[in-house]
Amino acid sequence: YANAELTIPPPPALLQPLVVPKKLLLGPGPSNISTRVQEAGGKQIIGHMHVEMFEIMDTIKAGIQYAFQTTNNMTLAISGSGHAAMEAALVNVVEPGDVVLIGIHGVWGERAADIAERIGGDVRRFVKPPGEMFTLQEIEQALVQHKPILFFITHGESSSGVVQEMDGIGPLCHKHNCLLLVDSVASLGGVPLYMDKQDIDILYSGSQKVLNCPPGTAPLSFNDKACQKIFNRRKKPTSLYLDMSWLSNIWGCDGSPRKYHHTTPITGLFALREALAILAEQGLEEYWKLHQENAEYLHKGIEDLGLKLFVKDKAIRLPTVTTIAVPEGYEWKDITDFIMNKYQIEITGGLGPTIGKVLRIGLMGINCTKANADLVLRALKDALAQCKKSKH
Ligand code: PMP
Repeated sequence: YANAELTIPPPPALLQPLVVPKKLLLGPGPSNISTRVQEAGGKQIIGHMHVEMFEIMDTIKAGIQYAFQTTNNMTLAISGSGHAAMEAALVNVVEPGDVVLIGIHGVWGERAADIAERIGGDVRRFVKPPGEMFTLQEIEQALVQHKPILFFITHGESSSGVVQEMDGIGPLCHKHNCLLLVDSVASLGGVPLYMDKQDIDILYSGSQKVLNCPPGTAPLSFNDKACQKIFNRRKKPTSLYLDMSWLSNIWGCDGSPRKYHHTTPITGLFALREALAILAEQGLEEYWKLHQENAEYLHKGIEDLGLKLFVKDKAIRLPTVTTIAVPEGYEWKDITDFIMNKYQIEITGGLGPTIGKVLRIGLMGINCTKANADLVLRALKDALAQCKKSKH
């Protein structure tokens, strides 16, 4: 076919310039990225096996250890979004037949259960209505009943707007010979979390929320107890891409010279490095305080508009992602579309079990300001006045 004519012409749209509109992302993620992170991600690449790249990866590892408050050696960033870290955790820990207990109080537990089932885990679903959290007593009962090797729970449930209290869960899991796996994609950096102090065995997050980084580099850490399990498997995990034996090597965690496994998202890692640097400069405690204060400010503004917060118990409202009960008589989509079209501000509807029930507003990282809270409150007020009440 050396001289054959092409049957597929260049797509006309590709011959036009790239257009990316400016939007204020106040949904549950991604959030906007800072100029500093943007510039880091726009740098020329170097090789994924170059010594300078390994140094950057070492710095990222230290940054994740700070963000997670852990000394775990097995700490790295997965090349992928939050889901990839969730899969990496489960595919390495869970072997076919293992009993896995999944706390489901929103959509994320359901995703974890689906992944664990695909791996062949014996999945036990432990469900609570969205808007609530698990008590230690309920968790202990479930651990006694199911005798799992792993318990999964979401710290910041972004579909329901609930923050799960983490104190005491780790020790309970260990009392019952179970590892604790925690999802902090929507909470890391915005809500207090202490991997080591809270006895969390496996913790993962994402880059595109409080860290204000593009999606695609997801922090993940395993403690020694979790490493015992993942490096003493009967068979290799079914995913080569997410196999921790390989990933621990390329992240310099196994003490052996690094060997090629996959080409890491080099510019994504530059961006993550800068995002973690910003977190280190701001200080975790300052960041936690900022998110709590601005969330309370937003909550008051929402109630002043006559709207109801979806999570009744003040103490378990997630500071990073606020859920509002869809006001009676309105279509949620009319409100989110109106705010996007008129203000170029993203807020979203619910997800999984909260679809049709909530509106979600995220104030994360650099987006977490009183000015942004005021902006979105003004837009909401306008939407309530302008969007026809479609249900009667
Ligand atoms: N867990 C939680 C709590 C999340 O909020 C999200 C993202 N909305 C995910 C997991 C999945 O992350 P990603 O979209 O980056 O795959």
